[in-house]
Amino acid sequence: MPASLPGPTVGVVGGGQLGRMLGEAAAPLGIDLVVLDPTPECPAAPVARDQLVADFDDEDAIRALAERADYLTFEIELADQDVLADISEDTGVPCHPDPSTLALIHDKLHQKRALDDAGVPVPPFRRVDDVDDLRDALDDLGTPAMLKARTGGYDGRGNVPVESVDDAADALDAVAGPAMVEAFVDYERETSVVAAKGDGEVATFPIGENVHEEEILRETVVPARSGDAVASRAEAVGHEVLDLLDGRGVYAVELFETTDGDVLVNEIAPRPHNSGHWTIEGALTSQFEQHLRAVVGWPLGATALRAPTVSKNVLGTGDASRSARVDGVERVLETPGANLHWYGKRETRPLRKMGHVTCVATDDDSTDDLLASARALVDGLEFA
Ligand code: ADP
Repeated sequence: MPASLPGPTVGVVGGGQLGRMLGEAAAPLGIDLVVLDPTPECPAAPVARDQLVADFDDEDAIRALAERADYLTFEIELADQDVLADISEDTGVPCHPDPSTLALIHDKLHQKRALDDAGVPVPPFRRVDDVDDLRDALDDLGTPAMLKARTGGYDGRGNVPVESVDDAADALDAVAGPAMVEAFVDYERETSVVAAKGDGEVATFPIGENVHEEEILRETVVPARSGDAVASRAEAVGHEVLDLLDGRGVYAVELFETTDGDVLVNEIAPRPHNSGHWTIEGALTSQFEQHLRAVVGWPLGATALRAPTVSKNVLGTGDASRSARVDGVERVLETPGANLHWYGKRETRPLRKMGHVTCVATDDDSTDDLLASARALVDGLEFA
């Protein structure tokens, strides 16, 4: 599709850190953002032309967003797929990715079934409506297993490991709501494929290796330390998943690499993803620029790695919410190849994503060197 400047205006449902990094990528492209988010002065507000302060499913506000935009997109999975679909149709303002992708991923059981039905490899799973279902499933799948809330979980919230059949009732109480259970995957590593669907083209970033602790993403290491054959398999599985998703945009596919070298899909995000933040400095095009290019139908950017790269999340510490203040930042600023990202959230909470640090190799740094450096820099940050 031809591109001309000034670029179009993109209306984004959600104005968190992903919206902020979209805004940072939009300015040099001549693309304007208007974001919709219920939190006044949300992280994206300083880098957007405007913020509409409204809930993610506020129909009038989304209509107002569409009136100001040439394209709609979303950076939050809580966006309401029906409202977005209706408004996009009524106003003629295209929404990318297609709102149906939200319907596909919203319910983890539905998502896993869709993947399984399409022949995409996933861990064995079962639907769980009551404790008898769970006990039967555990008999089938074995223990340990991972019980998951079907909806509303994120960053591991809503996931409960089940060690034995005796824990079934307690685990189900902890999930409190519709659930599914998965065989516990004995994985070598977790990886993700971040890829964009453009106007008749697909571009895939190099596979990233994700280090989780307490089920929260802590670090992404690129290139992943998988062998070449497994990395190609991961890319192929990523493409199988992309085939199931409608509309342009960046998608992330989270994978388990098993100890046998198999690749299984954990989950899909129809949006830029935490495991792709490394692309801002580490790839020829960032996932945020790529998402905007895709949404507005411009040619996709090159995705090659500039140099080995590690990104590490800066998570809130302590055990209570308080106003966010961090000291010790100068070490990040003084380190060659280290890049600081602060999301501008006023309040910090335990394990809340407050920012990230990305270390890009400057000489012949290995990914292990970069990982050590990113860990030391983030450990040196002190939340007041
Ligand atoms: P969320 O949607 O909250 O991010 P996920 O279902 O992606 O939750 O799980 C978060 C993390 O929990 C995964 O990255 C992985 O570390 C762990 N996990 C999830 N499912 C399994 C599983 N079947 N086996 C082993 N670990 C799992």
